[in-house]
Amino acid sequence: MIYLDNNATTKASSTVVAAVTHYLENCYANASANTAGYTGADVPRRTAAGQLAHLLNAEEPDCFLFTSGATESNNWIFSALNGSRLRKVCISAIEHPSVSEPAERLGRNGCELSVIPVNRDGIVCIETLAELLSPDTQLVSVMAANNETGVVQPIEEIAQLVRARCPTALFHTDATQAIGRIPIDLQGSWAEVDLMSFSAHKFHGPKGIGGIYCRPGTALLPWLVGGGQEAGLRSGTTNTPGLAGLAAAVGQIDVALYDEVRDRRDYFESQLRGVLSVQLHAANALRLPNTSCFSIAGTSGEEIADQLAARGVIVGTGSACSSGSLSPPKTLLAMGVNYTLAAGTIRVSLSRTTSIEELDRLVALLVEIVAVRGGSPQLPGG
Ligand code: PLP
Repeated sequence: MIYLDNNATTKASSTVVAAVTHYLENCYANASANTAGYTGADVPRRTAAGQLAHLLNAEEPDCFLFTSGATESNNWIFSALNGSRLRKVCISAIEHPSVSEPAERLGRNGCELSVIPVNRDGIVCIETLAELLSPDTQLVSVMAANNETGVVQPIEEIAQLVRARCPTALFHTDATQAIGRIPIDLQGSWAEVDLMSFSAHKFHGPKGIGGIYCRPGTALLPWLVGGGQEAGLRSGTTNTPGLAGLAAAVGQIDVALYDEVRDRRDYFESQLRGVLSVQLHAANALRLPNTSCFSIAGTSGEEIADQLAARGVIVGTGSACSSGSLSPPKTLLAMGVNYTLAAGTIRVSLSRTTSIEELDRLVALLVEIVAVRGGSPQLPGG
């Protein structure tokens, strides 16, 4: 199989699998039991928090709370930030449903919800955000990088604007697609980010583990009550194998590797444009180095993806986490891409190990599939 849907999920590395297996097989004591210090069951949580603090330049390991992943993190932030008292919230138009749906639920319950539009390149309109902010805004959420197009948002600029206009508001960014792919510095350019969510399986870690960076002094209300794990905020037996895998995955991150991934992505796009009439989305924006999102005129993304899958090549269509949904990607619609073109979208997302040969094979298959179904004509000389 050639797997090119790494914005949906990534393959756990063998180091991660070994770490998870070790904790499942050998160190399975409960991390909250009083034997944890003897059995080593308390080690993965500390290691994961320490590794994340190092990678992201956070103030201290205690800034991290662990959850089952970004969906839970985002729901927690929108549901238990200030309890039922959230009255004024702003999100971008392209947020993942795990942000937009909790925000819309707040809106239905009397909270004033503003949605910040994006421009044709998929970048949040800073001027509109400035107009929407008011001193009583409590929470602003803009994702760091989009799962469909890979567009990287100017988080530093947005967070500074929020801090300047509404000093008491909290700024949250969903960094699920960004961690491991672009540099993040929580005490440098991202010093005004208060809350950040993430999932380990997007950077070769295990599924079902992720968390929230919570800047010191930012209070989250308890989300799950019971045994008092995660500083009494999120009860439930600690996912020790997951944390061991998360720590191993973070330890393997080398953002510099993504310069090579970008070269391979750019190579793929130039090869593709040489042989097929494609529209590359957000081509003028700063994008994640691994993501290419395009439409082939006259074709349906789902159909092309199915045909590729039948030939052993996995690509994405539309939203990373909405497989099974046939509606066109919401990000592209927000960017003003027309419905038919948006419905034809294919998303190719590389991993750090994707090879040129795999990309060449994809281009060859796309040409073959499009030619058979009489879709987009080849360009002259293609
Ligand atoms: N946020 C973004 C930007 C995502 O791309 C995803 C999944 O693709 C999520 C949140 C949800 O992550 P998870 O399914 O790990 O909870």
